[in-house]
Amino acid sequence: MQKSKQTVKDIIKNREKEFFDYLRLDSVSTQNRSIAPTVKYVTDLIVSTGGEAKVLDDLGGNPVVYGYFKADPKGNSEKTVLFYNHYDVQPEDPLDEWETDPFEPTVIDGKLFCRGVTDNKANFILRLYALEYLMQSEEGLPCNVKFLVEGEEENGSPNLDAYLEKYADLFDSDGCIWEFGGKNEKEQFVIETGVKGMAYFDLFAESADVDIHSSLGAVVDNAAWRLTHALASLRDKDNQVLVAGFYDNIEHPSGSAQKAVKERVVSEDKIAGIYGLKHPFITKDLEWSAEEALAFYPTMTICGLLSGYTEEGTKTVLPRKASAKLDCRLVPGQDPLKIEQLLRHHLDEHGFSDVELVLLKGQKAFRSDIDHPFVQTVKESADEVYGSHSEVVLSPTNPGTGPMYSFGKHLGIPVASSGCGHAEGKAHAPNESIRLKDFEEGTHHMIAFLKRFKEA
Ligand SMILES: [Zn+2]
Repeated sequence: MQKSKQTVKDIIKNREKEFFDYLRLDSVSTQNRSIAPTVKYVTDLIVSTGGEAKVLDDLGGNPVVYGYFKADPKGNSEKTVLFYNHYDVQPEDPLDEWETDPFEPTVIDGKLFCRGVTDNKANFILRLYALEYLMQSEEGLPCNVKFLVEGEEENGSPNLDAYLEKYADLFDSDGCIWEFGGKNEKEQFVIETGVKGMAYFDLFAESADVDIHSSLGAVVDNAAWRLTHALASLRDKDNQVLVAGFYDNIEHPSGSAQKAVKERVVSEDKIAGIYGLKHPFITKDLEWSAEEALAFYPTMTICGLLSGYTEEGTKTVLPRKASAKLDCRLVPGQDPLKIEQLLRHHLDEHGFSDVELVLLKGQKAFRSDIDHPFVQTVKESADEVYGSHSEVVLSPTNPGTGPMYSFGKHLGIPVASSGCGHAEGKAHAPNESIRLKDFEEGTHHMIAFLKRFKEA
């Protein structure tokens, strides 16, 4: 008897409990929570969908799950796509700002709320659903599919490069579908083909062995002033980074990349509304536009600042210690180690040799060639699925950071994103969500992509 064919809706319905149980696993990598059961769960999901799975754990860090689905004999076994996803999630705090239990998937008004749902568990699940749909269809799976599902993305993927280097043959493929993606604040479906890199630093200043009565401020310096002066020397009030050499060696984007960015208008009003911004975009004082800043220019951001007395009321004290967290989002051509050298040199030259600088995390940026046939196939299949109601746009560089550079370096493949995210998905924040409609459409996009990829 012939097995009756399931629609995408059927698959979503039939596998809902399995998906929700995946969301219930609090796989917070920075706090080492539920990693082993999540690895087992991901492996089981791949196998129960009809693929082979292997756990790679010989290079340290949280295991990497490899998955493989072979093309149907009617398909094109010469073509292989790699899906990159991660099973780890961000910590759920601050807990009191959640309107639902962070690890209990909850549907309200067509949205599914849970920590890790948009970043990145739903995207992994919808790729599996696309495979299940195609495998039971007349034409079968159109090409080979590999998965790389890692568990340290939210921790900066410290071991992924080593795994990609050692297992380059295992992950060998013709192109990679990136973990995130989806609709922006204008409901355009955005395909990202690059990411910024990162150099993340700790800065420390110390001015005495103990905190001191602030009357001695007449003669004694304090760590808070030392550090804020040092920080202020790094960037002017118009957001220009003042560190000599910081903007050197930046790779010039291709004509197509520039054109794609020009066509993409960032809505300042919408973004201001979402975040309740109190000031206009800082690009108003820069020589480049908001669009160009997001895609092609590096940033320097004080992410945290700590010193002295910060409780209620007064305490007159000279703080002996101050510390800051600083991140630089980098673009192709910039090297985190070089940025560290430049910052060290700058601090020394400006009289802050006592300010300690520690590079915590370094990752290079990556940009695919947006004219590559793989990228075009992702775009054309998105036009097919979303085109009737949403504009599909190519974005040469996502302003965020991810380990894309390692895929380019070890596998030599282009990368493009596809996912079910939405502008108010609140990744990393309380009340993280996806819209179920996007989840279904995302599944259809992967189906359409795999069909086209077979021929591309
Ligand atoms: Zn994330």
